[in-house]
Amino acid sequence: MNQHIHCIVSNCHYWSQGNKCEANEILVATDKFGASQPDQIDATTATQLTSESAGTCMETCCKSYVSKGSQKVSADRITKMS
Ligand code: SF4
Repeated sequence: MNQHIHCIVSNCHYWSQGNKCEANEILVATDKFGASQPDQIDATTATQLTSESAGTCMETCCKSYVSKGSQKVSADRITKMS
């Protein structure tokens, strides 16, 4: 699958020019899930997670977001595409 993820969150470690996400994988989750789980629970553990429903797009978030320069960059074992 050849996906392109576009994102305008420019202070994320994975964001790049042209509003592109350069993470090799991401996890989109409900806000409730994202707020309740540690950084280690992310795209690398996605196949083990239970799916949930959201009412609107306002109830979803990118669980893979991490601030540029953060010490938590490798906590979820996600990497940038080469
Ligand atoms: S990881 Fe999420 S917040 Fe960060 S650039 Fe990719 S889509 Fe945007």
